[in-house]
Amino acid sequence: MVNYLIRLDDACPQMHLEKWERVECILNKYSIKPIVAVIPDNKDETLFFNYNENFWTSTINRWQKNNWNLALHGYQHLYHPTSKKSIVQFKNKSEFTGDDYQTQKDKILKGIEILNEYSINPKIFIAPGHAFDEITIEVLKNETSIKVVSDGFSFRPYKINGMCWVPQQLWNFRKMPFGTWTFCLHPNTMLEQDFLKMDKWLQNNNSKVISFEQCLSTNLQNKNLNDILFEKMLLIIRKTK
Ligand SMILES: [Zn+2]
Repeated sequence: MVNYLIRLDDACPQMHLEKWERVECILNKYSIKPIVAVIPDNKDETLFFNYNENFWTSTINRWQKNNWNLALHGYQHLYHPTSKKSIVQFKNKSEFTGDDYQTQKDKILKGIEILNEYSINPKIFIAPGHAFDEITIEVLKNETSIKVVSDGFSFRPYKINGMCWVPQQLWNFRKMPFGTWTFCLHPNTMLEQDFLKMDKWLQNNNSKVISFEQCLSTNLQNKNLNDILFEKMLLIIRKTK
């Protein structure tokens, strides 16, 4: 059996409104409920496209009413250089990796506080740039009610020490033979061909796309050797591509 989740990254008041509306329109056409990575206090100038003063009110309200799942996407989406390894290693920069417990706690709690002000109660953590470390996980476990991380490369969700991991392995629509796969889209930078591909793929595969709630409705197993081997294999395939 195979199913898919869709995750939209970098929602904030400065997002590219027109492109986000186009993605929303396609998802609504197929009744798909994505996970949205919402930046609480965006300071990343590479994400300054428009300024939508109704973002926290009408846009967020509409998404919540439509049962989209709004996740905590870091705090300000600002990276600092770090030599410490992240759990999912892509870059030598991060908003969290390398920071001490108190600093990470401050950022995460401030982020949650801002989302709470706008009636968002995030259940999922999504680190900017996939960059976070064991301390980030400890802070989430000890200081917040977030129990799910959207990241990693296994073929299915799993648990580690009471935290749920819903892997996010793909950035392009493609058919997979089995497992649970999260496609991560960046609406801000999508091009005409990306919208067309998305629509076409969903036209053929929308029945296999599930929501976050459906994904976690079964009891998750603890991460085991199969997950570890699969993650290693997928990373090797990615590196050799
Ligand atoms: Zn991001």
